[in-house]
Amino acid sequence: MTASALTLAVDAVGGQASPFLAHRPVASMGPRDLGVRLAFVGICGTDAEILHNSLPSTFAIHYPHSLGHEWSGMVEAVGSAVCSIAVGDRVLGHGHLGGNDWFGVTHDGAAAEVFTVPAAVCFPVPAGTSLLTAAVIEPFACVLEAITTIGGVSAANTVHIYGLGAIGLTVLLLCRNAGTSVVVFGPSALRRERARAVGAFDPSTGSVCDLTADATGRMCSSRPPDIPAPRPMPWRAPTTVAGWC
Ligand SMILES: [Zn+2]
Repeated sequence: MTASALTLAVDAVGGQASPFLAHRPVASMGPRDLGVRLAFVGICGTDAEILHNSLPSTFAIHYPHSLGHEWSGMVEAVGSAVCSIAVGDRVLGHGHLGGNDWFGVTHDGAAAEVFTVPAAVCFPVPAGTSLLTAAVIEPFACVLEAITTIGGVSAANTVHIYGLGAIGLTVLLLCRNAGTSVVVFGPSALRRERARAVGAFDPSTGSVCDLTADATGRMCSSRPPDIPAPRPMPWRAPTTVAGWC
């Protein structure tokens, strides 16, 4: 691993968060760490909250620190206790370090050419999945977790989505995959168009009542459409990949 890397970081200056781009030392590796060369990193709403100093104070940010908690990359170094991931593997990671400590949020993250990350938060990228796609699996997983936490969704539900950013659109995809009816609200015509393309109702193009009538062939005053049998959310338990020698 190199000693330093070009890094997108944030510091606290006069009580305000201040971003900067600079070469920063790469954290030394422990036996359960990986050294990773970045492929892709996302900029999340949480990053914007950090930069606007609006993250809840319960997140104890260790300034200065590098941003980046949704990412993918290539393993360049492996700690001596890690035996499940090898140099050259493609990996992605989640951010939860335990408690309210978060990789890339409260602690140094992935927005650097190379960085050190605990192997326990990393997963191999399956063959056939691009590193670009892999970098957005973390926010996708956040949405899946949220939907799973509320008991899942099915064709028996109608979901309203307010805001069609990455999270809102991901909610839309998961809901539509489960056969759920979705009504979307958002200021971006392009994003609403993309939402309509996967079957969302967009009230800005007509009333929900009209859209429902179009979709079901029934008048608004008629009885509700027959509800198809619920289809369970696809769910596969995450694979634990961190193995210790
Ligand atoms: Zn995020």
